Amino acid sequence: MMLSPAATVVILAFAGLFGLVIGSFLNVVVYRVPAGVPLTRESRCPQCGAPVRPWHNVPVASWLLLRGGCADCGERISARYPLVELATGAFFVLVTWSALQAAVPASGADAIVLVAYLYFAAITVALTLIDLDTHRLPNAIVLPSYAVAGILFVLAAAVGGRWSSLLTAAVGGAVLYAFYFVLRAIKPGGMGGGDVKLAGVVGIYLGWLGWGALIVGAFAAFLLGGVFGIALILARRAGRKSAIPFGPWMLAGAWVGIFAGQALADWYMGLFAIA
Ligand SMILES: [Zn+2]
Repeated sequence: MMLSPAATVVILAFAGLFGLVIGSFLNVVVYRVPAGVPLTRESRCPQCGAPVRPWHNVPVASWLLLRGGCADCGERISARYPLVELATGAFFVLVTWSALQAAVPASGADAIVLVAYLYFAAITVALTLIDLDTHRLPNAIVLPSYAVAGILFVLAAAVGGRWSSLLTAAVGGAVLYAFYFVLRAIKPGGMGGGDVKLAGVVGIYLGWLGWGALIVGAFAAFLLGGVFGIALILARRAGRKSAIPFGPWMLAGAWVGIFAGQALADWYMGLFAIA
């Protein structure tokens, strides 16, 4: 079944709204998980302690209506909150659009796989911000991600008979985990334990899409991280030894692999093909 343009727009609009809501939740995750504060606790203004009311929790709109301040005391609320919501909304639209392009006709298994990649988009946003803020990749997010990815991909394999994708996902997870484990053992201080644990999750997501995605995604992380590191040193914003967290680059590289991995791998192999 080909989707009509109207149906595509409706699906993408829902994906965007869903992303805004998830982005709002991720703001709470980014703030509370590193601090060990339960996610279920009621939100309060850090300045005056006034509870955040439900109608103040509408993504982006509340921040605009309240003009970026607490409704009670006027304390500034960072523009980062609505920006994270907007970024997550845009991310969800992009992932959903990409899935609609790839899966014609779309099946139940495709829908499960889409949920898996939307989950990966959500933890990408959360882990990137937390790693930049605190230089940590919390186990509380990374370890359950093995279970979430595992359950969804096993389900997709069972529903759609995608056992070879499940196999490459499992191998990808093991290979990338082992690769980062060895990197960390060779050069202690370069990678953190959190990077090694996240590498397994990234490997599962890349491996599901195939070897091209896995190789491109793993390589892109080092390319992006290296280019950015050199740029920082040239701009004298960082010393040769200043710690730049690697988690965001691993995740950015993963998305290069997810969106463009197979195409890039095919193009590269095509260079060696005899016409
Ligand atoms: Zn306040």
